[in-house]
Amino acid sequence: MLDEERLQRNKKWLEDERARLKSELDCMSPAMDEQERPGYGTHLADSASQVFEQTKNLAVCQHLRRTLEEVNRALEKMDKGIYRVCDRCHGPVDPARLKALPYATLCKACQERLEVVTRPRRKR
Ligand SMILES: [Zn+2]
Repeated sequence: MLDEERLQRNKKWLEDERARLKSELDCMSPAMDEQERPGYGTHLADSASQVFEQTKNLAVCQHLRRTLEEVNRALEKMDKGIYRVCDRCHGPVDPARLKALPYATLCKACQERLEVVTRPRRKR
């Protein structure tokens, strides 16, 4: 069982994580806007590395955003009192899993099924 104390601790962790992710996204966005302004691409020699940087930032940004969504979802589920319920099969999420990954919104079986779909060639 996931006791009340652990739940509160997870909530605190999620709130901290949400603040951290938001601030990271905030400092990333202005830099990205700048790269999209007109004039970009006029220096051909710099383009390749610029595109590389942009792609890298975008990937990091997307990852941060996705994590933020998961954190938000977990907090929303806490509010509704369904934090321990899997989003997909509505079965219970293993408390040990929530302990290790406070923003887990799926049970282990559903998560694994999802990963097989999105990452078909994952190496073991
Ligand atoms: Zn499930």
